[in-house]
Amino acid sequence: MRKEDIELLGDAHISTSIDTPLRADAFDKSDDEKIEVIQRHFKAIMHELGLDLNDDSLSGTPYRFAKMYVKELFYGLNPNNRPRISTFSNKYGYKKLLLEQDITIDSSCEHHFLPIVGKAHIGYIPKDKVIGLSKINRLVDYYAHRPQVQERLCLQILKDLQDALDTEDVIVIINAKHLCVSSRGIKDKQSSTTTMEYGGCFQNIEERNTVLKQIDLLRNQF
Ligand SMILES: [Zn+2]
Repeated sequence: MRKEDIELLGDAHISTSIDTPLRADAFDKSDDEKIEVIQRHFKAIMHELGLDLNDDSLSGTPYRFAKMYVKELFYGLNPNNRPRISTFSNKYGYKKLLLEQDITIDSSCEHHFLPIVGKAHIGYIPKDKVIGLSKINRLVDYYAHRPQVQERLCLQILKDLQDALDTEDVIVIINAKHLCVSSRGIKDKQSSTTTMEYGGCFQNIEERNTVLKQIDLLRNQF
């Protein structure tokens, strides 16, 4: 790929698939083995930048960096780390909107490996199954902790929740700031990006507006 095209693709934030592109051998190595290798590579990057790795403040950075990548920022790449989503039968027979708002988004852009920070709002209309509220937050956290594109993050959360809850009636709204837009390139500090994915009854504009109004209402209240 030409360098100009690489830049172009990154700035356009194009993603190619709903699934995170992973190799078949992605998890053949253990976390510790990965940390070992990444540590070595990052040390080489720092060295190439001209940094003195013998400096007390810098010498531990390659290890800290590697551990942060594998165990924290990108723990959500490994399907073994997906939170167990237990559902319960809808004993109350509650069949109206349930909206979980202002869920923290801590993600990273896959084109620049810089943070994406923001909020997710997730609504669903239960059929026979309901889910523990904190499980929605955990699921968001899991999918966010991969190199991501905001549109794909939205879709991955939507699809997983639709499968878990056994209903199409789910809506996922994400509003986030991308540090690759605010700290490099155009360096726009104010703009944010909103994405919205939904299925089932939320294809109806009135159902969607109920959710959007509710998000707006609470925002003005606090
Ligand atoms: Zn980016």
